[in-house]
Amino acid sequence: DAKKAGSNMIRFFSPNMNIMVLDQLLAESRLLRAMDKHEFMMFYQPRLSLKTGRIAGMEALLRWNHPKKGIVSAGKFIRLAEKIGLIQRIGEFVLASVTRQLKVWINQGKTPVPVAINVSSMELRGPKLKESLQYLLQETGLAPQFFEIEITESNLIEDLDRVRQTLTDIRKMGITISIDDFGTGYSSLGYLSSLPADYLKIDSLFIADIVNNRNMASIVETTITLAHSLGMQVIAEGVETAEQLQFLRAKGCDQIQGYYCSRPLSPSGLETFMQRIGEKNTGYIHRE
Ligand code: C2E
Ligand code: MG
Ligand code: MG
Ligand code: MG
Repeated sequence: DAKKAGSNMIRFFSPNMNIMVLDQLLAESRLLRAMDKHEFMMFYQPRLSLKTGRIAGMEALLRWNHPKKGIVSAGKFIRLAEKIGLIQRIGEFVLASVTRQLKVWINQGKTPVPVAINVSSMELRGPKLKESLQYLLQETGLAPQFFEIEITESNLIEDLDRVRQTLTDIRKMGITISIDDFGTGYSSLGYLSSLPADYLKIDSLFIADIVNNRNMASIVETTITLAHSLGMQVIAEGVETAEQLQFLRAKGCDQIQGYYCSRPLSPSGLETFMQRIGEKNTGYIHRE
């Protein structure tokens, strides 16, 4: 009614609200300028194979080196980046940055593990992703086995036929495909079975509670069985404890990713980490 509307109006025009709007605008313009100011950088989080006890790959994760706040995680700004139309440029930056890093490591005589790159739904639907990847492989001569693409399950619903074709083409190039955040979107077993994917990544939401919550434990166990029967390997995300690792290993999970193994690291941090675990390769626990 009128009274309610009136009070809403007052709230809408309150000074606090103006500050929030201003904050938002400021955040947007800061983010828009971050690219030109070279404030973006990539961190890398290793993944551990539960079969071999070795690092089987890593995920490239975008970071914003904010002049005041320091290193800011992608989770804090990636949605805003999509909203203000920056995600395409970010995608180009990520590809270039990861490629450059791989070449540095190879030139240093190292054999890098495959790097997984997160791809936004906009990139996935756009016409350029396939060509960018093709061009990149040709131009650099890097083997396609160095690259993986992670797509979020909830990004797949619309345009499924087109997305499926793009993924099939990318996979034919020799690049591995992962379905990220599995369990958080509108999963349909039907379309899951129709997707050309190599890895299924179970979202950290499910992993957080596997030790204490029987329902979560059964969901995870069933998902592992399902993925395997569809010919996919399973990566558990957000593994933070030894108990979670033991559970996942007992249930046949293929790989784990999470703070238990390592936090996302700067390139030099990753080099140190790899050196350390190379020196003492002691089974599943590579942490101090
Ligand atoms: P994601 O692909 O599911 O990435 C995993 C997220 O979980 C990362 O957050 C990582 O830092 C965090 N994480 C890893 N291990 C643990 C753990 O043990 N516990 C907890 N609590 N968290 C853990 P981040 O880096 O903030 O990224 C958030 C999301 O932003 C990513 O989710 C991905 O969807 C997106 N993103 C990240 N980098 C990029 C990028 O380069 N391009 C695009 N388009 N999206 C990106
Ligand atoms: Mg991911
Ligand atoms: Mg995920
Ligand atoms: Mg996520």
